[in-house]
Amino acid sequence: MADLETILYDKKFKCAHCDHEFTSKKVRLRRGHPIQRDPDFCVHYANQSENPLLYHVIVCPECGFSFNDNFRTFIPDPTVEQRIQEKISDNWTKKDYTGMRTVPEAIAAYKLGIFTADVRGESHCVLAGLCMRLAWMYRFLKKKVKEDHFLEVARHEYELSLEKGDYANTDMTELKILYLVGELYRHLGNPQQAVHYFSSVIHHKLKDTDPQMVRAARDQWETMREDMKREKVAREDPAG
Ligand SMILES: [Zn+2]
Repeated sequence: MADLETILYDKKFKCAHCDHEFTSKKVRLRRGHPIQRDPDFCVHYANQSENPLLYHVIVCPECGFSFNDNFRTFIPDPTVEQRIQEKISDNWTKKDYTGMRTVPEAIAAYKLGIFTADVRGESHCVLAGLCMRLAWMYRFLKKKVKEDHFLEVARHEYELSLEKGDYANTDMTELKILYLVGELYRHLGNPQQAVHYFSSVIHHKLKDTDPQMVRAARDQWETMREDMKREKVAREDPAG
């Protein structure tokens, strides 16, 4: 089994706010050991410090500007830089998130990333992706109330992203977001809305472009039907 030193590597970054150049840990693809993949694409590792999800947000150690690969490279609004300076950098107490991370450290990085994305006016799709991954961090820690809170925020942001179509030029597609919103509704206990979204994936005009997502929607719909059947039997025959 490869050790963490060979699984993690230092990647170079340049801060888009203060121009500081630094390295931050990333995970070499195909070197880690995933042990579980949830229906919402959360991946678990036996050793969570080798989970690429922990290194998703990069935090500039100099100014606190925190970002991922999906942030816009060009911001037309000239007042944004000033807002970042006032709301983030002027309040930044230097802290280094560039090394190996624990789950609580990854949570701090995600919160900084969400705050920066909000100040910078990043898309609903970017915010949703960050909130979703932050929820997974709480899943790793088995903090269900916090997990569900951020899944709910992600669900709301993904629905706004569908409405605005702001997922173009990201690694998300309409089909993938429709499936995820369905899965989030299922997870959060709203089967009617879940069925609505799973159905929209299965009958989508682009369904042939992503058979994997259509299969996932069918599977989760089936899982939900079986859960509901079991609950109905339990209600009608409490003695079992
Ligand atoms: Zn910086």
